[in-house]
Amino acid sequence: MKNDTIAAIATAMSPSGIGIIRISGDDALEVIDRIYRGKNKDKKISDCHTHTIHYGYIYDGDEKIDEVMVLLMKAPNTYTREDTVEIDCHGGVYVMKRVLETVIKNGARPAEPGEFTKRAFLNGRIDLSQAESVIDVINSKNDFALKSSLSQLSGTVLNSIKEIRGELLHEIAFIESALDDPEHISLEGYPQKLYAIVDNKCREIDSLLKSSDNGRILKEGINTVILGKPNAGKSSLLNVLVGTDRAIVTDIAGTTRDVLEEQINLGGITLNLVDTAGIRNTEDVVEKIGVKKAMEHAGEADLVIYVIDASVPLDESDFEIMDFIKNKHAIILLNKSDLSTVVDEPEVRKYVDKTILSISARENSGIKELEDTIKDMFFKGQVSFNDEIYITNIRHKNLLADAANSLKLVMNSINDDMPEDFYSIDLMSAYESLGLIIGESVEDDLMDEIFSKFCMGK
Ligand code: GDP
Repeated sequence: MKNDTIAAIATAMSPSGIGIIRISGDDALEVIDRIYRGKNKDKKISDCHTHTIHYGYIYDGDEKIDEVMVLLMKAPNTYTREDTVEIDCHGGVYVMKRVLETVIKNGARPAEPGEFTKRAFLNGRIDLSQAESVIDVINSKNDFALKSSLSQLSGTVLNSIKEIRGELLHEIAFIESALDDPEHISLEGYPQKLYAIVDNKCREIDSLLKSSDNGRILKEGINTVILGKPNAGKSSLLNVLVGTDRAIVTDIAGTTRDVLEEQINLGGITLNLVDTAGIRNTEDVVEKIGVKKAMEHAGEADLVIYVIDASVPLDESDFEIMDFIKNKHAIILLNKSDLSTVVDEPEVRKYVDKTILSISARENSGIKELEDTIKDMFFKGQVSFNDEIYITNIRHKNLLADAANSLKLVMNSINDDMPEDFYSIDLMSAYESLGLIIGESVEDDLMDEIFSKFCMGK
């Protein structure tokens, strides 16, 4: 069956140095032959060697559209495993559109979002977890997330999961064979052996799950709550952090009506800052509720930044907050260092042992130290980028959890002395859950869901 030929603008639709139009499919070479003219007018580009670059012009009929470089990549050594052509044209939005239109007029159709990667998957060049990593690469909000996605692309997740699946399949096959042929294969002592194997695999899956927690921090940002009494300087701090010199990535509407979440980038790390100052009110009672509400949010935060107004003595609310953050990742800021202060580090340390920094939100001092401290906390020993397996995708995480649950059922069955065919049913579900992560036996609609998350042209 002939694969129709798809085309899209692979680079951003904004003015830039070059724009790339990508064409893939059985007619990709015919399409480019129709619209490209090089120096030697008689030579067809499709007759040239694969993986070569050609300088010339794109023509729409007799009209010269743009001066281009054409990358010729014949199947199967291409991203999609199909004949692929990339046209590097000038990066103006109008030019890119004109070239794409010309390509489409001459035999290609516009690609669906993610369709190139979908083809790479369907043609067996990449597995599903790699395909999903491409989405992550595209969506990466910062350098660190990019690194983690790339490490997944290298196939580390794939390998661990394949290994676990291989071993599970081996045991399933053994049980089935033994049940079929009890005269020759004995299951004597086997349940104990299986127990040890399953226990082991469970641990491996658990550690993949743990790394998925780190993955969440890397990908979505560190959920951060700023706590402190009214007037301590929380809003001022937030303003300094999101100030003009630091890019505001996006504004997300908070999960609840009265909380605003702001996403900021601190030297490559994304912080999701919950602006609890927004729930402040002028009446005392309500202010108290404000602090309580803030603490509720802080309960689920990855990081708490606790702001103390160092120019006034500590009071009950401060003690309450200090008690609350004892077992959390927290940084304490002694704010208003530009005034004469009455609270110092040794005093605070009597109550709670955390990193304590002196800052002035008003004068923008100590902020660099705060940034460095945050980076240190999350990247010193706790999260590393090189060999770690990051599963940055919620779907993966759920499937891993399903697999672990199935394996726990196997262990229960063994403990309860259930018949052997009970084991293989749950082993099989674990096998299937893991298979879904790497795209074996996936439903079409699941695939479409995944691929439609892609940008056009990838
Ligand atoms: P919030 O209620 O915790 O959000 O506190 P705000 O950020 O609204 O600050 C309360 C008051 O303290 C405002 O008048 C700020 O200008 C002031 N303030 C905040 N940070 C500093 C600081 O570092 N030094 C001084 N002198 N005043 C500050």
